[in-house]
Amino acid sequence: MDIKTEMIKINPQAIDHEAIARAGEILKKGGLVAFPTETVYGLGGDATNPDASHKIYSAKGRPSDNPLIVHITNMKALEEIVAQAPQAAYTLAERFWPGPLTMIFQKNDRIPYETTGGMDTVAVRMPSDPIARALIDASTGYIAAPSANTSGRPSPTQAEHVAQDLTGKIDMIIDGGPVNIGLESTIVDLTEDVPMILRPGYITLEMLQEVLGEVRVDPGLIAADSDRKPKAPGMKYRHYAPKADLKVVEGETDAVVQKINRLSEELTAQKKSVGIIATEETKDQYRQGIVISIGGRDDEEAIARHLYGSLRQFDELGVDAIFSESFATAGMGQAIMNRLLKAAGHQVLEV
Ligand code: AMP
Ligand code: MG
Repeated sequence: MDIKTEMIKINPQAIDHEAIARAGEILKKGGLVAFPTETVYGLGGDATNPDASHKIYSAKGRPSDNPLIVHITNMKALEEIVAQAPQAAYTLAERFWPGPLTMIFQKNDRIPYETTGGMDTVAVRMPSDPIARALIDASTGYIAAPSANTSGRPSPTQAEHVAQDLTGKIDMIIDGGPVNIGLESTIVDLTEDVPMILRPGYITLEMLQEVLGEVRVDPGLIAADSDRKPKAPGMKYRHYAPKADLKVVEGETDAVVQKINRLSEELTAQKKSVGIIATEETKDQYRQGIVISIGGRDDEEAIARHLYGSLRQFDELGVDAIFSESFATAGMGQAIMNRLLKAAGHQVLEV
């Protein structure tokens, strides 16, 4: 049965604390509120309430073994929900919190197994977005919030995306405008002897190594198509996927453009509609298909911010096939390619 979903607008520069208090009350009563963070929109519920976590899984259609990230605003809140916080957590927090970094700890009894998908560990993040922070402080102080999309669809980077997926399933959507980063947080596991990246993001391996020394990357991530399972349960699902068949074309830029032009011509001749994810430098070189430029080739911030939105746009346009250029930039390139390849089900054409 559908419930009424209220959409409210909040200006992050001039927060309406009355509206936030109302949203906080919904959360305290076990309801669900979607809200902006600096990474993507989150679907929030009280992380200390097993019923609220249940509702999150059911609104998203999320597999129940895929744990939720708990959002907090201060270090005391962290200490209250973990068995122990290693020194590395304080070092990382000092440098990267509040911000787009999630850390994994051994949990204690405060956070129920419903929130952690049955795991003895808990993922925790301290976001920097002012609306997210105000909302957490107006709630119990612990908001479980996965991305606010239907499971398997691209993560929402604006409130309209949330409304497309979750209207009628949650109590409230807070529209705080488009997000800043556009890709989910970096996840680092601190329960291992050596800290390990379980999901790449805005905070890169190099940035973590700079403050921690040795850091590893989950081998299950690198060999994404091998038998090795990623340690973050969510990374094993085909995620972020658009409805159309998406293929990534990799190689030298001119050759990539030529290849996409050839493939688009073939499909167009078969009366199929084609979408192309291009860049400012290449967008005018495509002769067929609907072209979306997601930013300059070296502007990884723009590429990250526009990637999910472009996949959703092609869903709305109902194209049959999508070809994307590849974006192996220096910093966030790992995270961008991780999401793009997952969206493509690892279909890559090398030229
Ligand atoms: P989302 O909030 O939609 O970005 O998804 C959260 C991600 O964090 C998923 O990939 C989860 O599998 C991962 N995650 C959450 N908690 C844990 C945990 N305790 N151990 C490993 N991965 C986790
Ligand atoms: Mg997600």
